[in-house]
Amino acid sequence: MPHDYDVVIIGAGMVGASLACALAPSGLRIAIIESVTLTNDQQPSYDDRGLTLSPSTKRILEQINIWSQVQAYVTPIKKIHVSEQGRFGFTHLDAVESGFSELGNVVIARSLGLAIHKQMSSFENVNLICPAELKHFQRTDSGMILEISHSGDIEKICAGLLVGADGSYSLVRRLAGINTKEHDYKQTVIVSNITTQKPNNSTAFERFTPHGPVALLPIDKNRSVLVFTVEGKNAEYYLNMPDEQYIDAIEAEFGRRLGKIEQVGQRRSYPLRFIEAIEQYQDQLVLLGNAVHTIHPNTAQGFNLGLRDVAGLAECIIDGIEKGRTIDDIGILEDYIKLRRDDQQYVMQFTNRLAHCFYNDKPLLSSARNVAMLLIDMLPDLKRSFTERSMGLAGLQPRFVRGQSL
Ligand SMILES: Cc1cc2nc3c(=O)[nH]c(=O)nc-3n(C[C@H](O)[C@H](O)[C@H](O)COP(=O)(O)OP(=O)(O)OC[C@H]3O[C@@H](n4cnc5c(N)ncnc54)[C@H](O)[C@@H]3O)c2cc1C
Repeated sequence: MPHDYDVVIIGAGMVGASLACALAPSGLRIAIIESVTLTNDQQPSYDDRGLTLSPSTKRILEQINIWSQVQAYVTPIKKIHVSEQGRFGFTHLDAVESGFSELGNVVIARSLGLAIHKQMSSFENVNLICPAELKHFQRTDSGMILEISHSGDIEKICAGLLVGADGSYSLVRRLAGINTKEHDYKQTVIVSNITTQKPNNSTAFERFTPHGPVALLPIDKNRSVLVFTVEGKNAEYYLNMPDEQYIDAIEAEFGRRLGKIEQVGQRRSYPLRFIEAIEQYQDQLVLLGNAVHTIHPNTAQGFNLGLRDVAGLAECIIDGIEKGRTIDDIGILEDYIKLRRDDQQYVMQFTNRLAHCFYNDKPLLSSARNVAMLLIDMLPDLKRSFTERSMGLAGLQPRFVRGQSL
């Protein structure tokens, strides 16, 4: 039986939809299956959370023609100030000092989603099937047979390669029998927009507190996204308190660096869990994005890492096909993992260490954290290498990240 599609992607969240855009110019026949429409309030990928896009992400989005559509909605980060509540140590990163035009950009997830979907819909060889849900799949000698529930019917389609970009609780991962390593951080992130008395001057703030990090990301002159981490058991208390009381609670943690907090918008909550798939690929199947690694948002790396994986997978598929491989050749996926493993491991370990190290009140650890922050602040080479790593520019990176086309 011939394949209906070369590649079927489950999940048109930020990662799956970006992969469709990266692969589409190759002419491959692509289907992307999504259960929740883009404009639905329950859409998990495209809500009002502020995302920090690293410079590596900007380069990839430029290469897949999305950056020009989202540029009007992003705010550059020129400086980052990192500190710990009640301690002397702090570090600051400055774009100009580091030789970059910006350290990152902040965008509301919904605006990015609209841009990615607009670009995706411009390709005739990409078929978005939505609302529709993967129910089951089966490997046969001639390809992957997927059962999709769509408009009340079960439709069968045959794919050369199945990509599971279906989020943290991935059905593709479960149906493939892939186990996970998981850890409950027992923390909940509460995200809201705030208006401050003083302008943020394109500065992002990250402050570590005993109950998790508090971050402010600039989105406009006097408006920032507040990412407030609390112990999971206290989440309801913070979510339900009146605005004035919530403002007092934020100011108690964060101080008045940007003057008085004048207004706070709607609060949304995200319980935090680390999830890592033990296997990333099998014959004719690969996991991407949150389906393969769901990480703590303290380093703002989840989507950035997922997008570099998208760039790596697209490169290995297109190179493989140019060399005469077929889309179901497992060699493509082996090349992909070789290209991506180091960066993935670095980001996951760094993010986890930061989450464990700062969410800890041991006096020795606390002194070590302060010394580390001061050292980073005082040693320009260390600071530069740290900055490049955080930007996703260090080490072996896919061609898109190096500013090259496929
Ligand atoms: C509070 C917070 C702040 C964050 N900040 C940042 C940041 O600043 N920078 C950064 O890089 N990252 C950040 N992240 C991480 C980032 O949001 C995620 O890494 C990213 O959204 C993952 O996208 P995804 O497409 O892999 O998964 P998802 O966004 O979960 O998308 C999965 C999609 O699959 C669909 N789906 C699921 N099952 C099925 C099925 N059976 N059939 C069909 N469709 C299905 C879902 O409807 C969904 O649309 C943050 C995360 C949080 C929680």
